[in-house]
Amino acid sequence: CADIAMYRAKQEGRNQAHFYSNELHEAVRLRNSLELDIRKALSNQQFELFYQAQIDSSNGELTGMEALLRWQHPTRGLLAPGEFIALAEELGLMIEIGQWVLDTACKQLLHWHVLLPRHVKRPLIAVNLSAIQLHSKKLFTGVDHVLNETGLLPQYLELEITESAIIKNPEKIAVVLQTIANRGIRLALDDFGTGYSSFEHLKLFPIHNLKIDRSFVKNVGSGEDAERLLAAMFNFGNTLELIVTAEGVETTEQVEFCKQKGANVLQGYHFSKPINANEFEKQFINVH
Ligand code: C2E
Ligand code: MG
Ligand code: MG
Ligand code: MG
Repeated sequence: CADIAMYRAKQEGRNQAHFYSNELHEAVRLRNSLELDIRKALSNQQFELFYQAQIDSSNGELTGMEALLRWQHPTRGLLAPGEFIALAEELGLMIEIGQWVLDTACKQLLHWHVLLPRHVKRPLIAVNLSAIQLHSKKLFTGVDHVLNETGLLPQYLELEITESAIIKNPEKIAVVLQTIANRGIRLALDDFGTGYSSFEHLKLFPIHNLKIDRSFVKNVGSGEDAERLLAAMFNFGNTLELIVTAEGVETTEQVEFCKQKGANVLQGYHFSKPINANEFEKQFINVH
């Protein structure tokens, strides 16, 4: 691969070659250094979960929070999943990291359930699964283990999957997900509308929550066609009697539109960015 890049670079002239080889060199160096670091990140306790509020559109109450993984890198600072999850998957580390995410998120939620006064509705925790976890035999036992360990009721755990994670072997994954759903755990279809959306999936998978990708929500205010498409997506989820979540809600206009057109749950910077557990507790748990 490096050879091909060099070959192409040479074809394109000396200056270009210089540019490419530098860039390539830099990319390889970064990867190698991250690769060494990420192998130690779990045992060095450098991973942290941030939490983003999910809000009931009908009354503004907290219905849940999504756990979002962060890597506190010793020299590079706080890294978002886009900067390291693909690498973790490649290195075969994602099963173990994913289990850590599940354990940490469920324990955190349980702690918050205890803090909340009795009259407040218990929020759920949403945890993202990577494709590799979905294809792993350990997934069900891992999920089962954390529920038994914590005593968290299964209806308070929602697992988020993307369609790109299920296209490889949908029939087999449907069986895995059915087992999970039978256990009482909820499933969300994340980033809906991007990539490989297939109506077949909605028949095949026991989905509770349809999360409309933020690229559609962004279109509120940018023309009738785009708005009609978004409204139709909400409608679609409503018709199938799914919970419909709007992702990436940033403006008051988007809140109003999503609410009016049938989104049940709203998530986005308008309500809160993903924040660490202490911040989340201050802003959403200790306020009652
Ligand atoms: P996602 O599951 O779709 O999560 C939502 C992403 O959108 C988060 O990015 C969040 O910070 C961002 N976001 C939320 N509201 C807004 C908004 O109003 N505006 C904008 N511009 N962005 C918003 P983040 O935390 O960087 O995560 C990116 C992706 O990484 C996630 O997308 C998810 O697919 C993946 N991910 C995160 N945590 C985990 C994890 O523990 N395991 C796995 N397998 N994947 C994870
Ligand atoms: Mg998600
Ligand atoms: Mg999403
Ligand atoms: Mg997304």
